[in-house]
Amino acid sequence: MITDKEGLQLAYEEAKASFDEGGVPIGAALVSADGKLLGKGRNQRVQLGSPIHHGETSTLLNTGRLPASAYKGSTMYTTLSPCDMSQGTGACILYGIARVVIGENKTFLGGEAYLKQRGVEVVVLDDSECRALMEAFIEKSPELWNEDIGVEERVYSKEGHSAPA
Ligand SMILES: [Zn+2]
Repeated sequence: MITDKEGLQLAYEEAKASFDEGGVPIGAALVSADGKLLGKGRNQRVQLGSPIHHGETSTLLNTGRLPASAYKGSTMYTTLSPCDMSQGTGACILYGIARVVIGENKTFLGGEAYLKQRGVEVVVLDDSECRALMEAFIEKSPELWNEDIGVEERVYSKEGHSAPA
């Protein structure tokens, strides 16, 4: 039985692996209703040159094709608040994923309200490791991060930060 802490740790390990590969450090893991790991994945936009390999979508891809019953009551762990690509695909909603557990939403706030509105339970753990990893990446590669969230200039959600000149 994978706990929320362990589920997030699995997602974090994926995020860290992406960071080490020079990619965007966002990871995810999908855990079934009975607490078993179904699959995990990481953002691979840089590694694969892919606009659609976000943490959650990579996880669903790695999990493979499953019957609807396998997703029922499952939990998606993600290191960062899911962006419009990840939840805008409707993946979590479409497959009936019951919970989304988020590492942090300070560096980026995604579509949490939409998930809640569609009946998905959203839990934010406010994890300092997840946040530190994202902050290190944004400092190191602001242009890659801007590209990831589809903006030309970084919109800093963090106090005291201004966009790079
Ligand atoms: Zn995303």
